[in-house]
Amino acid sequence: MICIYCLEDQIQSFFTKVEHIVPQSFGRFKNNLTLHNFVCDGCNKYFGDNLEIALGRDTYEGRLRFDYGLMQPSKFKSLGKQSRLTVRIHEGEFKGAYAYREYSEVQQQIIIKPVPQVGFRKLVDSEIEYYLLDQIPTTQHFDQNGYDLDQPGSIRILPSTEVESIKAILLEKGFTFKSHKDVNPDESEPSLLCKIEGVIDESIIRAVAKIAFNYLAYWQGPQFMLEADFNSTRQFIRYGVKPQYPLIKIRQEAILCDEPVSGKRRSGHLLTVDWAADKRSIVAQVSLLNWLTYSVSLARDFSGEHRVIQRGDFFDPYNQRILQLGAKPNLALQTDR
Ligand SMILES: [Zn+2]
Repeated sequence: MICIYCLEDQIQSFFTKVEHIVPQSFGRFKNNLTLHNFVCDGCNKYFGDNLEIALGRDTYEGRLRFDYGLMQPSKFKSLGKQSRLTVRIHEGEFKGAYAYREYSEVQQQIIIKPVPQVGFRKLVDSEIEYYLLDQIPTTQHFDQNGYDLDQPGSIRILPSTEVESIKAILLEKGFTFKSHKDVNPDESEPSLLCKIEGVIDESIIRAVAKIAFNYLAYWQGPQFMLEADFNSTRQFIRYGVKPQYPLIKIRQEAILCDEPVSGKRRSGHLLTVDWAADKRSIVAQVSLLNWLTYSVSLARDFSGEHRVIQRGDFFDPYNQRILQLGAKPNLALQTDR
């Protein structure tokens, strides 16, 4: 038996695990789309331990699972400083401060807490600008740019529990304190409006590409996927080998043409696959929780069989069902499976 990712020929006992098209962390579905005997246990474990963890815990889509009630708040795991996502408070007294989200046992919900940082206020009534500890500019920067750091409240240290240690860092960098005051965001406040900035890095792109590859494999079978024209994609997913051409394009528009760029969309995941306009390339689209749309080029100049491969499905995690999308032009939802 040959694994569609590593292409190794192994005996059946190395194919005991079930590979889910949409990772289980994004929902469980009746009549779920799964691959049996396509993906060897070694590849399955590698994907689970590396790509799927990043996709679930460290993407905006992963966070939406909590906001949309798909995941229990107690399952929330913060990646802390290593996170690809930056959270900044977007309103109120602590506007601009860096924060992270954490599950609170006491409040039984996800709360927002400040990360260690220092804020500087240029003038008495100007907004505070925050810097993470390794990004604090020199004292000269503030002198040259007209900051009056001798005024009361011009330096703010967060969180309050780390004032002494952060103060020592500032003294070492040449800052002096004539007057000093610190305040702390109310840590019991779960609903502060935050702005989240994320980095979609290679692990995440590979995780998304795997969903697309799995999806085509589910509908076309393992033999079709062994075609050498899929090698760039499979090596990128399995080993991170960079392809010669951009494999993924990300856009904000929804897959379904009747949905807005911003505003309410159907709550669920969308997967589609078809020949590209050139009729020689195979392109899939993946949208988790109908947020960003990832177009994945699965094969270019495909030399294998040009069979009909058009397919689209909507995964509704709230009702655990999968609906097939109708044909073009508008891919509207068509039938209940
Ligand atoms: Zn394998």
